[in-house]
Formats: sequence, C-alpha cells, structure tokens
Amino acid sequence: MKIALLAGDGIGPEIMAQARRVLDALELPGLELIEAEVGGTAYRNHGHPLPGETLASARDADAVLFGAVGDPECDNLERHLRPEQAILGLRSNLGLFANLRPATMFPGLENMSGLKPEIARQIDVLIVRELNGDVYFGEKAMRVLEDGRRQGYDVMSYAEDEVRRIAHVAFRAAQGRGGKLCSVDKANVLETSQLWRDVVTETHADYPDVELSHMYVDNAAMQMVRNPGQFDVIVTGNLFGDILSDQASMCVGSIGLLASASLGERQTEYGTFGMYEPIHGSAPDIAGQGKANPMAMILSLAMLLRHSLGREEDALRIEKAIAATLEAGVLGGDLGGSAGTAEIGDAVLERL
Ligand code: ATP
Ligand code: MG
Repeated sequence: MKIALLAGDGIGPEIMAQARRVLDALELPGLELIEAEVGGTAYRNHGHPLPGETLASARDADAVLFGAVGDPECDNLERHLRPEQAILGLRSNLGLFANLRPATMFPGLENMSGLKPEIARQIDVLIVRELNGDVYFGEKAMRVLEDGRRQGYDVMSYAEDEVRRIAHVAFRAAQGRGGKLCSVDKANVLETSQLWRDVVTETHADYPDVELSHMYVDNAAMQMVRNPGQFDVIVTGNLFGDILSDQASMCVGSIGLLASASLGERQTEYGTFGMYEPIHGSAPDIAGQGKANPMAMILSLAMLLRHSLGREEDALRIEKAIAATLEAGVLGGDLGGSAGTAEIGDAVLERL
C-alpha cells in the first residue's frame, strides 16, 4: 500500500510530522510513503501550487494525506497560482466527489460548544456532502436586463447518476456506523431536490439494513442545534452540505479536532481511494511555533485507514487514543490548554 503525504504550508508540516509518528507506530506491513510538495511551498520551488509531479504521486497512491495550504505571501498572486487552488485541482483531477465530515463531541469538551453541554454531548454525526455538482457547477451569468438592472443567475442541477453515486457512499457509511441515514433536501420547492429524494429512495432498496429518513434543509439546520443526537449519517447536496457541515463543526467546538475525507469512485485493493485532511487551514499566525494541535491531522489519518486501507481496527485505536488524551486533559491552545504539538503527539502515542 502506498500513501502520498502532502504536508503543505504553515502548520501543515508540523502536524503532518505527528501523524507520521502515529503511522510509523502502527508498523503496517508493506507500507510505502511518498512525500510531495503542495501549496505555497510548491509555488516557490516549482512555480505552481500543484506541480504535475505532486499530482502524479497522489494519483499513484492508494490514499493521500493532506496537511493544509495557504500562505499570506501568495495572496496577491493570480487566482490559479494561489495555494488554495491545489485542493480544487486535486479534487477535480482525482475525481473526488464525496466529502465526509464527522463531527463528534469528545468527552470533557462539552463546554467548548456553543450549545448547552447536555445537548452538545449527543453530537456524533457524519455529514456526507456531494462535491462535484449543484449550483456551484451549473451555468452562471451576470446579466443586464432591458431596464438596466443587473441580474445574477446560477443554475442548480443534478443528474441521476450524480445523486446515485453519493447515495451509495452514504448508505455504506451508515452501514459502518449506527445504521441510520437522513437525506437532506428542499424537495418542497426544488426540482433538483425532488430528483435527489427519488434517487436516494430508489438506492435504499440495495441497503435494507439502513433506516432512511428525509428532512428539509431548513428543518435540518434547526434540528442540528435543537436535538443533534438524532442524526447518525446525513447525506446532502453541495450547497446544503457546505452550510450544514460548518454548522455541525461549530456545534462541536474546536477547529483543531475535526477531520475530513474526500472520496472518489476508484476502488483500490484495500478500499476506496481518497484524500484526507483536517478541516482547519494553515494557521499562518501560529506556524513554526510548535503550538498547533495535531489531533485533526491524526484523526484524518484514522479516516484514511478506515476508508482507503480497510483498517477499521487501526482507525478505532487511533480514535480511542485521541479521546483518552483529551480525557486526560492534554489540551492544545485551541482548546484553552497549553500542550504543544509534539507534546500532544507524545501523549497520543503513549495511549496508542
Ligand atoms: P484557511 O483559509 O486556510 O481556512 P483561515 O485563516 O480561514 O485559513 P485557519 O488557518 O483554520 O483559518 O485558522 C483559523 C484560526 O484557528 C487561527 O487563529 C489559527 O491559529 C487557529 N487554528 C487553526 N488550526 C489550528 C490547530 N490545528 N491548532 C491550533 N489552532 C488552530
Ligand atoms: Mg478558512
């Protein structure tokens, strides 16, 4: 098995080093690691945030572990040369259409959430967001009407097969978790949503062991703060998923704890090809100071092991070690604690 490690900019290399220690400790047989440059670092050394060589390494691997990109010194570059473009380039070139974001409340951190602790304690949801369709990719225009008023125009569309493939990802994810899937749409108003609902319902026939429900997105946003414990897996389109996944993240609290996966259709020998990264950015304000919390990065590695390498037990081991570290009060600056990057890495390794 092969993993491409793309550490990137800012705190990326610091947190990647800790994930690497965890990976080394697992001693996976036959594992090959390939490091490649991405983001501002790659722009400086190769003139492009996503050099062809990096893309080739990613494509050649069974999974990609991605740190973070973003560099204030690159802010004035033309758009296609900015570090953030590397993520979009990887997603489109690797055919990654499913974005998975778990939001789980870790014991002892209930007070970090904006929700009441007794409600926050219930959060354990996986949001599966479609990434390649919806209003982001439909026809767009800024038109001038006859009377001179400007009109913005964005077409929302989904084709059946686009809905079906994300539905399969979500049903399979539900099978691996609590067995419940909630499909979120706005079928009372939108044709795209009516299609979404029909196709998800049809796909359900392949997964009789999963309990399927449907919810309108406005209600889902409300339920996420009122009674988040009711959700196991949520599947939704690109736009609704963008909003709901940020909402769920903030209900959990810290940015330094949340991981994500972007999956494609390609199956490897061990699972589904994917790219895994923390939801936070490169945090240039604390880069190079050894202060970044590496937990989101380490949890991204756990997701990689689960989805791309078929190593559920190793994934659970890592997740338990993180939970135990938090429970022991080893907290990074993002959680109001004082533990540094390497210290947190030590504490997680000790519990692994
Ligand atoms: P991007 O556009 O790349 O998402 P951003 O500036 O919007 O960047 P982050 O880079 O995620 O967002 O940083 C937001 C804040 O959270 C910063 O103050 C940063 O220091 C802090 N932060 C982000 N990640 C971590 C982490 N792993 N550990 C500690 N603090 C973090
Ligand atoms: Mg940001």
